[in-house]
Amino acid sequence: MKTVLSFLALAFLALPTTAQNQEVEIKVNKLTDHVYMLVGRGGNIGLSVGEDGAFMIDDQYAPLTPKILEAIKTVTDKPVKFLVNTHWHGDHTGGNENMSKEGTIIVAHKNVRARMSVEQFNKDWNRTTPASPKAALPVVTFSEDLTIHLNGEDIMIFHVHNAHTDGDAMVYFTQSNVLHMGDTYFQGKYPFIDLNSGGSIEGYINASKKALMLINDETIIIPGHRDQSNKKELQGYVSMLEELKASVSEAIAQGKSEEEVTNDTSLTKKYDDADYGSWFIKPNVMRRTLYRSLKDSNQE
Ligand SMILES: [Zn+2]
Repeated sequence: MKTVLSFLALAFLALPTTAQNQEVEIKVNKLTDHVYMLVGRGGNIGLSVGEDGAFMIDDQYAPLTPKILEAIKTVTDKPVKFLVNTHWHGDHTGGNENMSKEGTIIVAHKNVRARMSVEQFNKDWNRTTPASPKAALPVVTFSEDLTIHLNGEDIMIFHVHNAHTDGDAMVYFTQSNVLHMGDTYFQGKYPFIDLNSGGSIEGYINASKKALMLINDETIIIPGHRDQSNKKELQGYVSMLEELKASVSEAIAQGKSEEEVTNDTSLTKKYDDADYGSWFIKPNVMRRTLYRSLKDSNQE
């Protein structure tokens, strides 16, 4: 168990070195006539371009900023006016300091600024993240939602409670019909639910349900990680989470311990067989996270 965890912690911590960065290519995927998804290393970047300027969602790691800006230049000659962070994790906010030096206004939920302002310690992963420099902090924060009117589009930014963290925001381009879900969606794979940052399985499911109420069959979804997706896939994802939540809740009700739930492969077998556990969050980590999240909520 310990080996598995340290391996995962390493994967999570795997910040790109300079040598590795030279190999990272920023791919620009055109989703609609003015909305793009940029893929490099770290969280998927959303981008809207037009006459008012560029609007960006998440910025991966600091050393990648020059490459990201170069990629943006291939689709617009306008500067990035606004940048939204979907949550505080370093693979989504690492470029903040560089971007603010470019003159970009950074926007995020108030808990993103609060967490980035002080050192964070994650006990599940035994990982300390230092406080961010002032220039990296979001300068516009909100509690529930915020709308930015740019490039002929109403861009809705809204908070979902205690899902991946306690500061998650989704961004919906209402005219283009594109939704960036941040890490409240790991397309096709088990999610990372950061319990130490206020995440919970309950909130994670509710976040997806909120997204489902907003979108239709034509909506293009940008997940925090992995491939672009759609409503049908997200519905399947919610079913997966609800089934696993029910199985683990039942095991807890039967008095099973954390160890027993973590080791009971039958609880997740259906979705392990469908390849959900083959990426960052392995089946045992998924079961343990579900146990901890549900055990906590039962005690409240
Ligand atoms: Zn994250």
